Amino acid sequence: MLVIVLGSAAGGGFPQWNCACPNCRDVRRGDPALEVRTQDSLAVSADGRRWLLLNASPDVRAQIERQPVLWPARGRETPISAIALSNGDLDHCLGLFSLRESQPLSIYATHAVRAGLVDHNALWATLTRRPGQTVWHELGPEGSPVTGARGDDLGLKLTPVPAAGRLPLHLRGRREPNAFDNVALVVSERSSKALLVYAPGVAAPSAALEPWLERASAVFFDGTFSHDSELVDLGLGSQSATDMAHWPLFSPNGSLEYLASRCRGRGYLTHVNNTNPLLRAGSAERTALEAAGLGVARDGMELEL
Ligand SMILES: [Zn+2]
Ligand SMILES: [Zn+2]
Repeated sequence: MLVIVLGSAAGGGFPQWNCACPNCRDVRRGDPALEVRTQDSLAVSADGRRWLLLNASPDVRAQIERQPVLWPARGRETPISAIALSNGDLDHCLGLFSLRESQPLSIYATHAVRAGLVDHNALWATLTRRPGQTVWHELGPEGSPVTGARGDDLGLKLTPVPAAGRLPLHLRGRREPNAFDNVALVVSERSSKALLVYAPGVAAPSAALEPWLERASAVFFDGTFSHDSELVDLGLGSQSATDMAHWPLFSPNGSLEYLASRCRGRGYLTHVNNTNPLLRAGSAERTALEAAGLGVARDGMELEL
């Protein structure tokens, strides 16, 4: 299984357009300890020709142009055969609207995620202008083999595993939350034992996720915040990481220790917020992470599992 990190920043990217926190300020000045990151997404393939995107970020167009394997070879034949959504947050699905141009799209999502995006959403009509333009595949708990919009088999299977999270902002107060509003996407390959876990939004430990973390060849996990009060301490907000449904790495019972003791394969943090000191090479947080045997995902990083 081939894996490319298209983006590794949380919603807003790094730097974030309206932010002058120390990280955003210094990365704009070209500080060599920091690197620019787009909003998080992975590309996965069993054969190196047809690709499954895990989330479609608002940066998807630029992400495609940086990866020659994702360029169309001829006509309008994109190697992007399918897209899976881990939740309905706009930073994970706005990119779908950049992938319209009458392109047939094969989209995998749980019932809760699909309904949250499509129901009562007039904007969605732009992706259903032609019959067959958007093919939704409902990701039930048992998982699903992945096919492209024309029915071609990618040799991959997707399984959604409920992860602690919360409703996207635009759905709050409109309906009750559901265990499948936010999932980790597990990708397995038919021809090998390779197993990828992609969990960019995790609010707390989850019993359902543990066996998958232990079996995975590689894990990409929520690294949004290092500290619970990160935004408050910088004077950039009143909400803690926990309030925003992200599990801080370094709080008591933080996610770092949890991950380090469960990942037997490679473990990387993704969906890293622009304020996170982990972004800075040589910071105490980055050093502690590396000492625990984990790393920070980087845009453009490629893995073979
Ligand atoms: Zn997000
Ligand atoms: Zn910032």
